[in-house]
Amino acid sequence: MKSYQEMSNDDLLALKAELEAQYKAFQGKGLKLDMSRGKPSAEQLDLSMGMMDVLNSSTNLKCEAGIDCRNYGVIDGIQEAKELLASMIEVPADKIIIFGNSSLNVMFDMVSHAMTHGVLGSTPWAKLDKVKFLCPVPGYDRHFKITEYFGIEMINIPMLPTGPDMDLIEKLAGEDDAIKGIWCVPKYSNPQGITYSDETVRRFARLKPAAKDFRIFWDNAYSVHHLYDDDQDVLIELVTECEKAGNPDLVYKFTSTSKISFPGSGVAAIAASDANLKEIREHMTVQTIGHDKLNELRHVRYFKNLNGITEHMKKHAASMRPKFEAVVDTFDKELSGLGIGEWIRPKGGYFISFDSMEGCAKAIVQKAKEAGVVMTPAGATYPYGKDPKDSNIRIAPSFPTTEELALATELFVLCVKLVSIDKILE
Ligand code: PLP
Repeated sequence: MKSYQEMSNDDLLALKAELEAQYKAFQGKGLKLDMSRGKPSAEQLDLSMGMMDVLNSSTNLKCEAGIDCRNYGVIDGIQEAKELLASMIEVPADKIIIFGNSSLNVMFDMVSHAMTHGVLGSTPWAKLDKVKFLCPVPGYDRHFKITEYFGIEMINIPMLPTGPDMDLIEKLAGEDDAIKGIWCVPKYSNPQGITYSDETVRRFARLKPAAKDFRIFWDNAYSVHHLYDDDQDVLIELVTECEKAGNPDLVYKFTSTSKISFPGSGVAAIAASDANLKEIREHMTVQTIGHDKLNELRHVRYFKNLNGITEHMKKHAASMRPKFEAVVDTFDKELSGLGIGEWIRPKGGYFISFDSMEGCAKAIVQKAKEAGVVMTPAGATYPYGKDPKDSNIRIAPSFPTTEELALATELFVLCVKLVSIDKILE
């Protein structure tokens, strides 16, 4: 098979006419499909409905310590919730604080607190002339929105198959004390589905940033979100690794059950060193009288332990797997060898990342929209919404049905081909 670059202009024009006819046929179908929303389908949400039944008016609502979960108190989470979430993210239960319903909210608070109060006695970031963050790209748009909101300058760090470019991170963080942190989604990353290699994690643990208040924002959102039973990525645990490397305070590790139970009604947590947790508890006591312990109890009584979560996630995988495969199999079949795009077959997480030829992503997303398929806006996976190569597109396969997704992917592939031909003929 010839790549598009190897084809003659005449051949490309003939192919274009053929593809345009197919595209027009799609437009005639009046499609209304959405590949932009990284949220579970209704089928996945149904998997957790049993959780609605574990607490009712006759349930004992005391936690194991005998405290009434209907009332104020136990600010950093009931012990059994700490144990459940700690086991999920592989930290000791005394290294975790339970929060409310959203880990993103906790990340926002951590940046906000550093801005106004500093980190373990450092100058508040808002009092500094310049604060910068390292941003592995492509990455999660909502991370970038937080740092943008606080006026923090963002520096792109290319993602490699092993995780972000550690040579660059070590150099930049080691030299510039205005660099105060880095956003990471270390397992089944959003959007590429990459899991950081052992070497990458160990280099993070040994990092020697110029700023002593530098923190790694380690967003472990997809720790148990595997697609396959027998082929799973393994991530080294960073809180312990930092401790071993004599760098215990370097990391804030975030997690939540948003995409395990119910997004928006899950339980979030942070794991960190004793010193970091002490500081977090101090500002928590000002911020709230306590989070939703009934929800903590509900999660513990429903999942019981890590095994309960693992078994539950297999059901999510059974729902998600055909969708991921429908997209990636179509890419393999329709686009392999054409030289007009690259993609990764993820083993978990929530997204598939597609890289078009340079300068094509916006046009592809627009073309798909004009035929009724909504994608995440091109550029969203980069700080400030600016993809310097205009090539990355994030695909979210979870929400539509497999049939809808197959149709949407067919159209997407068509748009990739048409826009690429135009680009080559430019
Ligand atoms: N972190 C990542 C990497 C995500 O992809 C998402 C949601 O898509 C979140 C965090 C949101 O988590 P939460 O619902 O706990 O705020």
